[in-house]
Amino acid sequence: MFWIIGAKLAEPEPREGALRVEGHLITGKTSRVPYGVKWQEAHGLTIVPAFIDAHVHLSVAGDMTLVSRTELRRGVAGVLDLGEPERLLPVDPRPLRARYAGPLMTAPGGYPTQSWGKDGYGLELTTAAEARAAVARLAEKQARFVKLAFDSRFPLLQPEVARAAADEAHRLGLMVAAHALDAASVRLALDAGADVLAHTPRDELPADLLARMKGKWVISTLWAFGVSPDRLRALREAGARVAYGTDLGNEHTKVGIDARELALLVAAGVDPLLAATRDAAELLGFKELGRLSVGSTASLLAVRSLQPQDLADPVWVMNCGKLVA
Ligand SMILES: [Zn+2]
Repeated sequence: MFWIIGAKLAEPEPREGALRVEGHLITGKTSRVPYGVKWQEAHGLTIVPAFIDAHVHLSVAGDMTLVSRTELRRGVAGVLDLGEPERLLPVDPRPLRARYAGPLMTAPGGYPTQSWGKDGYGLELTTAAEARAAVARLAEKQARFVKLAFDSRFPLLQPEVARAAADEAHRLGLMVAAHALDAASVRLALDAGADVLAHTPRDELPADLLARMKGKWVISTLWAFGVSPDRLRALREAGARVAYGTDLGNEHTKVGIDARELALLVAAGVDPLLAATRDAAELLGFKELGRLSVGSTASLLAVRSLQPQDLADPVWVMNCGKLVA
């Protein structure tokens, strides 16, 4: 048992406080640390929950084991992997915590089978029965999400096939994420029953689509796609929930927390810390991550300030009560 002392706790506004850690858990919080205890030094720093990246492709970014370890060392404790071939399931990059979707469900010849997803990252579906069987198979491999791909440069999933996949996912308790960057694709995704947009769409969405996003989720990925923060602001104002995600594995992304994505969230009027901790944890269903609460896992970062550059460059990283070297 030890205390983290001398720091401010971001809850999310920084205030003076100390945390008691026992085993892998936060077990106490106080403004006055008892005398003579063991402690972890954090003077002048701010403690934030470890980050969660809600859009990654671990095996595209590199060797999955190495990428996962580097994520953890740089402050990312949990990820949502939104595209892996079925042969790599279940995705288990422990000690990095992961949720995953498996391959992108798409039409024969659909996105991404003609580009980066040639080698099993896309799963081609022709009939509703095939779609239901595929979802059941992925659920058996512990996928907690399915991902539908809509990109009109390529053949598109038939509406009844997309709908069958989403219905089966919901029936089995999985969430439905969609790759949909333009307004027509977003409409197809919502018609199918998507709960989550895997990217902030590039297009300005018409009012009826914005209205339909109320209470649904959008994963930011603004940097990877060069999308204007105004698009995310509009979704947020329409009542969509926002989670931080980088699309790690895509070009121009890097392993670890991305200050550029955090800065774009700020520009969109979104609190980057909440989007990458509490809110992302809620989307992924990680009840024990994302908060500095008693009972939460002691997966924490000590940072110099809550500015994007400092959030992305922690002074130290703790995972499950242990400093990560
Ligand atoms: Zn992606």
